[in-house]
Amino acid sequence: MNASKQEQRTYLGIPVPRPKVAFFELSSCEGCQLQIVNNEATLLDFLSLVDVRAFREAMTEKFSDYQIAFIEGSVTRADEIERLRKVREQAAVIVAFGSCACFGGVNQLKNRFSDPAWVKQEVYRGHPVETADTARPIEDFVKVDLKIFGCPVKKEEVEKIVTSLVLGKTVVHPKYPVCLECKANNNLCLFDLGEPCLGPITRGGCNAWCPNNRFGCWGCRGPAVDANVAQLQKIMRQHGFSEETILDRLECFGGFAEQAKELRSKIGGKG
Ligand code: SF4
Ligand code: SF4
Ligand code: SF4
Repeated sequence: MNASKQEQRTYLGIPVPRPKVAFFELSSCEGCQLQIVNNEATLLDFLSLVDVRAFREAMTEKFSDYQIAFIEGSVTRADEIERLRKVREQAAVIVAFGSCACFGGVNQLKNRFSDPAWVKQEVYRGHPVETADTARPIEDFVKVDLKIFGCPVKKEEVEKIVTSLVLGKTVVHPKYPVCLECKANNNLCLFDLGEPCLGPITRGGCNAWCPNNRFGCWGCRGPAVDANVAQLQKIMRQHGFSEETILDRLECFGGFAEQAKELRSKIGGKG
């Protein structure tokens, strides 16, 4: 990637600014950043919209004069808090990029264990690794201006959101659940095939990525507006799935933390 070439972009003949953007990762698998780099069909168009100032996965040059920072990953080490605060000082807009950054993501599964020392020993086997006892979303430490959901983020959605940012349009996330997209795609409902699914309560926008491929939704994008967990419980029960099956999924990415806590307290289970 070459960050030095600048061209004036126009939209309907009107010059539009090319914001300086940077991508950063905290504790993560870097899969969300990879989505951008992998998007070969539209990568050049996407890059022409923005001036990339830092993106470790894609370029060696690095500049610190960015305006929009995309931050992937959750906070699991003390030094990440410091890095995050520095980025906040520089960036006009901070985007929590992917479920780890938005909710803690799969990393927050470790928060369920009551003995962090045991978890550390099981995972790192004595390697000298500095980790905090919990994995937390970035908004626990800095103000977040925008969230892009998903594990990983959906590249088409990222492009749409970045185009909106560039054109100064308001970014609106879908309020409807994954189910709506799934039905629009004429999929067979996975419940009828014996598979649990969080599609009825999970925020849409991924175009029912998992159900399209015959996998039940695990809720990586967090709750849809007015998500009705009680109704999902009913559906799950009708299809023979226990509360623990629902909880496994609700607790997987951290987006349903409140709903999972409430359900656990109702059924008297322990996280
Ligand atoms: S949200 Fe998923 S894909 Fe993205 S960094 Fe976290 S674990 Fe990886
Ligand atoms: S498979 Fe899942 S998302 Fe699709 S209709 Fe059934 S419950 Fe909804
Ligand atoms: S179907 Fe569910 S788990 Fe799969 S990408 Fe969409 S929101 Fe995430």
